[in-house]
Amino acid sequence: MPSNLEPTLGDRVHAFLSTVRVGIDFGEHTGGIAIVRGNEVLHAETVLDFHEATLEQRRLLRRGRRGRHAKKMRLARLRSWILRQQLPNGARLPDPYEIMRRRKYMAQPGVFESKGTSPQDAPSWVSLAQDGKTDAAGFVRALTLIFQRRGYKWDAIALEEMPDAKMKDFLLNARIPAGNTGLADEVKLQIERRRADSTGSFRGKSKVSVEELEGCFLRALERGKKPPRPRLAEHRSVKESDLRAVVEGFGKSASLARETIDRWKWELAGGNDARGISRAGLLNKVLRPARFDNRLRTGCAWCGKATPRKARVRELAYRAAVNNLRARENFRPRPLNESEKQVFLDWWSKPETAPGPDAIKARIKKLNPDQDRMARQFHDLLQNEKPKGRASLCQEHLAMAAQGKTMRDAGVDWQRIAVRKAPNPCGERHDARVMRRLENLLFNPLLRGDSAWRYGPVSYISLEIPDPGTEQLGKGKQAERKTDTLTERLAAETDGCAYKVLGSCAGGLDKDHIFPQSKGGPDVRMNLVAACAAHNKEKDNRTPHAWLASEPGRWSAFEQYVQKLGVPERKKIILLNKTPEYPPGDPSPLARIGARPRQFAVLLGKLFAKYDVPLPRVDYRLGETLIQRISGGETHAFRLSWCKKPDGSNNFPYPKDRSSTFNHAEDAAILAAMPPHTWREQVRCWRAERPNAKGEWLPRPGLALPELAPDWAAYLQKRNKPIVYVLGRYPVRWRGKFADLTFWLQPENKDAPRLKRYKQVRNLKQPDFRNVVSDAMRARVERIASEVAYGGKGTISEALARRIAGPEVKKASEVQQKIPEAVEQLETTHPELRRVQVFSQKGGTMAQVRPSDGPMRLVQIKPATDGLVVWRKWEGKKKKSLKTYISLIRPHPLRVFGLPRLHPPIRDAERILGQLHRHQIIWLQGRPDRSEGFYRVTKCQRGGATVVPEELVPAEIANREGLKLQKEPMEGGDGTDDGSLGTISLGKRDLEAYFLSRKEKNAE
Ligand SMILES: [Zn+2]
Ligand SMILES: [Zn+2]
Repeated sequence: MPSNLEPTLGDRVHAFLSTVRVGIDFGEHTGGIAIVRGNEVLHAETVLDFHEATLEQRRLLRRGRRGRHAKKMRLARLRSWILRQQLPNGARLPDPYEIMRRRKYMAQPGVFESKGTSPQDAPSWVSLAQDGKTDAAGFVRALTLIFQRRGYKWDAIALEEMPDAKMKDFLLNARIPAGNTGLADEVKLQIERRRADSTGSFRGKSKVSVEELEGCFLRALERGKKPPRPRLAEHRSVKESDLRAVVEGFGKSASLARETIDRWKWELAGGNDARGISRAGLLNKVLRPARFDNRLRTGCAWCGKATPRKARVRELAYRAAVNNLRARENFRPRPLNESEKQVFLDWWSKPETAPGPDAIKARIKKLNPDQDRMARQFHDLLQNEKPKGRASLCQEHLAMAAQGKTMRDAGVDWQRIAVRKAPNPCGERHDARVMRRLENLLFNPLLRGDSAWRYGPVSYISLEIPDPGTEQLGKGKQAERKTDTLTERLAAETDGCAYKVLGSCAGGLDKDHIFPQSKGGPDVRMNLVAACAAHNKEKDNRTPHAWLASEPGRWSAFEQYVQKLGVPERKKIILLNKTPEYPPGDPSPLARIGARPRQFAVLLGKLFAKYDVPLPRVDYRLGETLIQRISGGETHAFRLSWCKKPDGSNNFPYPKDRSSTFNHAEDAAILAAMPPHTWREQVRCWRAERPNAKGEWLPRPGLALPELAPDWAAYLQKRNKPIVYVLGRYPVRWRGKFADLTFWLQPENKDAPRLKRYKQVRNLKQPDFRNVVSDAMRARVERIASEVAYGGKGTISEALARRIAGPEVKKASEVQQKIPEAVEQLETTHPELRRVQVFSQKGGTMAQVRPSDGPMRLVQIKPATDGLVVWRKWEGKKKKSLKTYISLIRPHPLRVFGLPRLHPPIRDAERILGQLHRHQIIWLQGRPDRSEGFYRVTKCQRGGATVVPEELVPAEIANREGLKLQKEPMEGGDGTDDGSLGTISLGKRDLEAYFLSRKEKNAE
């Protein structure tokens, strides 16, 4: 222990170092966990969470489900509308459900009755109804067709608000119906508007020439003359105009009154009626309003009891919200004073005098820029009779909060805080997953009590959790640039010299350490005030008390003055400190800790209880485990202090390298080394050369003691575990991935059972040509291929697009743009040939076997995963359907099916591929093209895997956190050749070597 430390501080440091400490750095997608004892880092890791990507898939499925349900509901509404209408002759329209079930109406008109009619040539029910050529039943069918696919509206932009790029996008896919001129007129108007004002801001960032838009428009009109293409989503406005045209056409042919036609249009498609009343229309009806209320089932923030709806306790919720506001003064939040509160309360008593949301926002922003987002809530509570959502407190506690009382007044103990039912709805249980990982690291699952600890009892747990306010900002961005200097800001706190009450100020203002640095006072903001040169000189190397104690009059004047000052309580204590020691920090609970860290503390309590060890506390008590919250700024200051070891060698990288995933593990190690807040300031009394903001290395005071620093460099040297840990498992699905290797049971026998499937002609590729089932079809397909000058690369439509684009166009994206045009051209030149049946053998060996226990079955083998898919061939039916999937590790069931040897045989490397999974961290030996170390698997492809060094930040996380980093492998790229940094492709041979070496290692 260094001898130059003050004895009490030295003892504290000594006692602190002997304990086991945990640091946890939190982020939404990334985090760090570190365990430190003494100066040794016992464990440190960066935790990555890719879970949101998985959630995205689940959301997609849910959206599909809800979409289908909504379609049913929409049809039910349409039916109810149809059954209510009456025709002039007194007849009713037929029941759409019954119409839809009739075979005649399932196909296009005329197709069912006359056998020779090709569906492609037949008109659609919609276009027939538009021309007024249908009876009532045909009209009803047309309506149901439109309601079944009502078009997309996700952009929800009206034509006049579309920027150029959107407009082009719309026109590229739109089909502007010929019979109805409304939509066409509107588009023409918008194009004319662009011709008149070529620089208008409404055109957006990337402008498109008027000529190009006109070209797209003409093509959209062309498309309108043809029946809609099946399976192609259209814009809602197109569908609306279709709907109006259908009503118009049928109305005229059935000689409906003009009013009835207009009313029907208005009721079905919406718009303004004759009286100017606007209505959304049945087609646009929102059947399932967005759900907010039932998403978060959270309880009272104080006690966990159920909370009332805001609508029922509007006034209480409003008053509690006013009491919860904090004004910012001298960069510190404080509760509002009475006159500030009164403004808000006056608004409540006279809501008609209350300003609009913008003015409320401006007022709150003036009080505290951090809280301006609360303005919407205030406005909602003030003006909305029925505000949505629930209050954050139970009835009883809300009433207390409305009177300005706090948790402490309610007698709620910090240690007994309730677990919320949805602790972290936004992070989707991210915290719970981190907690599980922590449990694995800290405890031995089989033991209880003190022996359960892996590294010994944990005494301090330090959390760094970003504030919700700062979370909104991108990483590395600053909230606001403070232009004034620290002295100026200190002077603002005390309105000039801090000792001016003593009189006779003179000279310029400068910083003054309240507790002198020479006596061990830290160089932190809390220990600084502004003082004039005269007072600074007079005070000299003393505390205020040592300076003024001999003159009781001056001291008491100073005491009274300090009590009234608008500085933090802590600073007042330091100013009035009468002891020769720097005052220790306040051991009381951390107030306003924030919901998330509080809930995490609750979870930690539950975890400790599970292992029968003493519970951790959020307030400081000697000898008990302390959970402390650390701000990002403090972590930064400690990193600066510890970027070098005392001997001058490198320790923590400084500044923080955000392009390395290790920075979270480093932060966690720094956090774990942070002393409790009661004496954290005191350790900031060391002086050394450290870089400033400009990168100049200068002697700087106020650094953290080097004795406390964890030895990060040593940890990196001796570690034998990966630093990156990925939460969750990401198995590679064998379908459509590398595991779908194709093997032929009888390659020489053409008649061996094979799967047949339909493929779109435009999506055919070279290998498909010889697999087309019918010889005649194959000849036609080959003729098309020669027409489009297919060169054996990509699909047929891509080849055609390349030809349309011309030989001078080289960029793939430009060719891609021409694909819709190419598809259209293909469909016009070969309208009868949309899809062909192709032998398809995707996904393993296909064999027809007759097992001893049952009927004939089709068996498919997934060699890479050792899986077996059994397809049952139903007797008497052609259709083969997937019945069972059995995953097998052992070959026994294969033998039951009596399969002969496979040809070609499955190679070991391919079998091995199935053992890798995504985000797995593997150790690779050094090679000329790569260094030895841990690598993360980013992709598993047919021919091998792609890995990146573990410190490379994954692109999906970088995107979500707003970081601009090196590229990760692009989609479809093979790795080495696309120039992305650090990416390495592993072929099957590499993998074989990898697994063999691992096998040897395991055997040792
Ligand atoms: Zn409560
Ligand atoms: Zn002064």
